[in-house]
Parts: sequence; C-alpha cells; structure tokens
Amino acid sequence: MLKKLIKFLTPRQSRTLADGPQILHAGEHPIRPRDISSGASKVVDILEDNKFQAFVVGGCVRDILLGRRPKDFDVATNATPEQAKALFRRSRIVGRRFRIVHVHMGRDMVEVTTFRASHDGNNHREAQRNDRGLLLRDNVFGDINEDALRRDFTVNALYYHPRDNTLYDYANGLTDIDSRLLRIIGDPETRFREDPVRMLRAARFAAKLDFTIEPATAAAIPPLAPLLRDIPPARLFDEWLKLFLSGHALATFRTLRELGLFSELFPTVAPLLETDDGFNLRFIEQAMANTDARIHDGKRVTPAFLLAALLWPVVLKTAAYLQAKGENPVMALQRAGGKVVTQQVERLAIPRRFTLPMREIWDMQQRLPLRHGRRAAHLVELPRFRAAYDFVLLREQAGENLDGLGRWWTRYQDVGEAERQAMVDALGNRGSGTKRRRRRSRPKSGGGEPA
Ligand code: ATP
Ligand code: MG
Repeated sequence: MLKKLIKFLTPRQSRTLADGPQILHAGEHPIRPRDISSGASKVVDILEDNKFQAFVVGGCVRDILLGRRPKDFDVATNATPEQAKALFRRSRIVGRRFRIVHVHMGRDMVEVTTFRASHDGNNHREAQRNDRGLLLRDNVFGDINEDALRRDFTVNALYYHPRDNTLYDYANGLTDIDSRLLRIIGDPETRFREDPVRMLRAARFAAKLDFTIEPATAAAIPPLAPLLRDIPPARLFDEWLKLFLSGHALATFRTLRELGLFSELFPTVAPLLETDDGFNLRFIEQAMANTDARIHDGKRVTPAFLLAALLWPVVLKTAAYLQAKGENPVMALQRAGGKVVTQQVERLAIPRRFTLPMREIWDMQQRLPLRHGRRAAHLVELPRFRAAYDFVLLREQAGENLDGLGRWWTRYQDVGEAERQAMVDALGNRGSGTKRRRRRSRPKSGGGEPA
C-alpha cells in the first residue's frame, strides 16, 4: 500500500497549503470504495442525495492508507447538525463545545461532523476562547477548505469521496504518511492552546501508528502540558480510555512521559516512577504490556484493573504513611485507597463503577495471603477474586517476592476439594495471618493525616 503511495507522491512534494488540495482520482491512490464501511457509504449517499456535500474523513482514511483496519468511520458534510439529524431516523446530536451527529446505520455508528471554519479572536458566540487560547466552543461552520485546516494533524485531514473514488489531501498528509510523521496543522502553540487534548492525541497517534512526532510539533508540547489542567476531568477520562485501552498502552505511556504529559494526568504517580530500584516503573509497564497483550488476543480488559495498577505505588506510599502514624495495616490500606481515589478523580473523572472495583482489588491484596481455615474457600468465591489474583501475579511478574502466593492460588483454583484442604493444612502457620494480627493489636500512636 505504502509503496503505491510513494509512486504517486514523488513528483508533487513541494506543494504548500495555499495551493489547495491535492486531488487523487481513481487509480491514483490505493483506496477502494469497498474499504469504506457500508454504513459510512450509505450516510454519504443519503447526504448527497439531499444535495449536501459529504466525505469520509480523518482517521479512517489515514488508517486505510496505512493498511490498517479503521476503528470507526467519520463523515464530514456541509449539512448543519440539525439538517443531518433530520435525514436519519436513528440519529442524535451530541456534544456542546463541539456538536456532532451520531448516526446508527445498520451495525455501524457513524459520526457526522459539519465542516468547521477557523476563527480568529473572541468575538463570535460560537467560538469563545479563554485567556489562555482555549476554544470553549467550536461550532462556527465553514466550507471544506476551512474544515481541513482546523483538523489536528496533517494525516487526519484527508477526505475521501466513495462515489467518485477520489482522495483530497488538504495539508500534505500523504507526504507525512509516507515519512511516518505526525505534524500538527498550522502553528503548534496556537493549535495546542486551542485544544490541549491535541497533545494527548499526538502521543496516542504516535504510539498507535508508530510515527515520529515532527520536531516543531513535539517541541511545543512539554511547555504547554500544564494547559491540560483546563480540561474537564470527564473529557480527560474519555481520552484516558483511548490512550490506554486501544492496544498500545505501553508505547503511549512512554511517549506521554517523554512529552511531560503523564504527570498532568497522574500528578501523584509521576514522582514515584523515578525510584532507585525501578520497581514502580517496572510494575506499571508490566501492567501496560499485559493489557496490550490481552487486547491483541481479543480478551476482555477492564479499566479498573489498569487504573488499580497505575495508582498502586501511591496507595502503598500513602498506606505506609498512615501506618507510620499508628493506623493498623488493614485500615491504613483501606483509607489510603480512598484518599488516592479522591485525589485522582480531581484530574480524571473515573466513574464509581471503576473506583469501587479498584479499591476492592487493593484491599484484597491484604486478604489473599490469609488462607487458613475456611478463608481460602471463601476468598476464591468473591466476585473480585479473579482481578485481585491477577494483580498478585502482576506484582510477582514485576519482581516482588510474595513467597509463592501467586503459584499457590493458581494451583488452588486447579485442584479438587480434598486437595484444596490439604493445601490449606500444609500452610501451617503461613497464611494464618497471625503476624498481622499481632501487629494490628499494637497500641495506636500519633494518628494524623497524610500530606
Ligand atoms: P481514531 O478514530 O483512530 O482514534 P481519528 O483520527 O479518527 O482516530 P477521532 O477522534 O475519531 O480520531 O476524530 C476524527 C477526526 O476529527 C480526526 O481525524 C481529526 O481530523 C478530527 N479531530 C478530532 N479531534 C480533534 C481535535 N481535538 N482537534 C482537531 N481536530 C480533531
Ligand atoms: Mg475516528
């Protein structure tokens, strides 16, 4: 696929944005109409039958050119959200800052976006900016030329017309695809100020596509990273899901750290990654690698598990602090979990359906070693057992010595009733929790809150 692109592109590389789009007709580019989902093609057809312009646009065109299967299809049109919604029965307008129409067509969900205009200054009701350049609304409609230049990266400003089988490249995206470069359109600082989430998107695409971030684009990011504090925590959580649950968590995590973005998402975790023994970093990177492997194997992944891993070093540190203040170990860990979640949701709005299992996974790290009597039989039946057990395996995989705990539970799940009893009996004093009980009965001293 790329070889074909190179053949088409070589003679035309000195174009500038002012030259208008480079237009590649059927036979001059490698996309075939059947590469487009039937839902997206139908949406384009219906819009055009109603005298609107419509194109397949953005990541799906980029991905097809790279020989990748697109995750979803986006359509850009000159129909307003209301006009588009009126054409499709199963559709609704979503978003406020950026209004788009979700159209359900057969099994596909297609995002239909009205062409946006670029806009200067603060004077338009639909294009408000704050004093740091952040676009509070981006609903000024325009034509396709304007739309292309307000997209984020050159490789995302490619438009494809399925009926004509024609490709429009507005920002030299094809050359950048060819050089595997992720380049922001326009002045990097202005564009990142308008929407700081574009910095996270840069890290995500670079990791997912294995592209290099073009030097001027990359250089603008670290000094602007603190602007992410202006983004609502709910939007950052949505973005977190895309960053870490799309099968490229490890590469994305490394890129985010290089660009100074990780500390903006996880301010309490970032300083703990620099420890001398490197355990925290190894632990988190192992969690990412495992998540990526599960996604590539088509297995289910839960955000709660990965978030529990990301925040575990902070939970341990906070628990140690509380213990030093005289709290018993069990209570210290529980309270630490609560505090860490409370701090983190200020930055990333993690829904309760994830924070509750995260806290259970943490609490169960203290319960899984206590296996005497009927405890093991009880623990293995708990809904959160599987995740908590996987978490133990992860800790061991990262190099923590848990005295064979993971292996013990692996075997316990594999064997029958009689052997389970024998395993518990064989533990003797190990697994009885006596050591912990002794510590728990120590008189409390101090108290007080962690910093
Ligand atoms: P993927 O779907 O693989 O995550 P994508 O490029 O399709 O990647 P979407 O979030 O689906 O990303 O957005 C579709 C298109 O909308 C992008 O390709 C880009 O052209 C434009 N876009 C999305 N978010 C922004 C943004 N914050 N600023 C400017 N343009 C954007
Ligand atoms: Mg998309």
